[in-house]
Amino acid sequence: MSNDIRAVCVIGWPVEHSRSPLIHNFWIGQHAIAGEYRREAVSPEEFPAFVKELALRGYAGANVTIPHKEVAMTLSVPDDRAEAVGAANTLWFEGDTLRSTNTDVEGFLANLDQMAPGWDRGLDGAIVLGAGGAARAIVFGLLSRGVKTIRVANRTFTRAQSLRDRFGDKVKPVAWDEVGGLLAGAGLLVNTTSLGMNGQPALDLRLEDLPKSAVVADIVYSPLVTPLLKEAKDLGLRRADGLGMLLHQAVRGFSLWFGVTPEVTPELRAMVEADLVKPKPE
Ligand code: NAP
Repeated sequence: MSNDIRAVCVIGWPVEHSRSPLIHNFWIGQHAIAGEYRREAVSPEEFPAFVKELALRGYAGANVTIPHKEVAMTLSVPDDRAEAVGAANTLWFEGDTLRSTNTDVEGFLANLDQMAPGWDRGLDGAIVLGAGGAARAIVFGLLSRGVKTIRVANRTFTRAQSLRDRFGDKVKPVAWDEVGGLLAGAGLLVNTTSLGMNGQPALDLRLEDLPKSAVVADIVYSPLVTPLLKEAKDLGLRRADGLGMLLHQAVRGFSLWFGVTPEVTPELRAMVEADLVKPKPE
């Protein structure tokens, strides 16, 4: 590898599905940077050694995806955001120190700001479906924007309770089958479960009871229009999709590694959309 090329990678297991190379290599080309963004399939057993040797391997930083986001934090110096969420998805060097952060928080918020401007104005109540890693980032983000009550519903109730334990009493765990009865009081509904994803069942939830001013966000991006977003559209509700979050969460990593703040443009979005709908090779 030439030393003139600044290399970054996404580390996952598996990692083939990741669209991050598509996004970052688009920006690398757009800004005529001598850089390269690669995929690295690294097993959980090999991950700590791989991260310790990141610089030796020629990398200026990395994204981290499933299943490494929690461990990545323990192998680096996390910022307040990664610490609060309990997971890191972006690694970079400050001198010799490997730092980490979680860009899902701002990815989610920036996408809502773009797709549903003013969504947080007077927003008292939100419902978050799911209580995994992405839900933690989103709950943290919603609290940072002053949302007063966040009802978290999860198939496994104890995981919803652990979000309340992490973030405090503004987070209210609710039973999975209670959600339908709570929609009338929600200004924002967010799906962070994998339901609605290609190959998974759809969420079993009707949205008629949501206020007309409510915003529906789904962080699943394959398919682009999930059954939840389709129903929200049919009801005339404002929406924010998972692809927008994915694109926006990539901005800060790029800026940390390459020193240029890239933009989420319609051209970038169209390129990734085209890849998402491309038939998979057999
Ligand atoms: P995770 O930590 O594994 O959490 C998965 C969540 O989905 C849990 O709450 C889980 O409930 C729930 N779930 C899974 N199958 C379910 C089912 N059959 N019925 C009800 N609930 C079910 O995963 P994650 O990292 O939070 O990611 C969640 C989703 O968000 C994935 O689809 C991922 O691709 C997507 N995502 C998108 C972005 C983006 O930029 N757009 C970023 C991050 C993640 P239990 O606790 O009961 O298992």
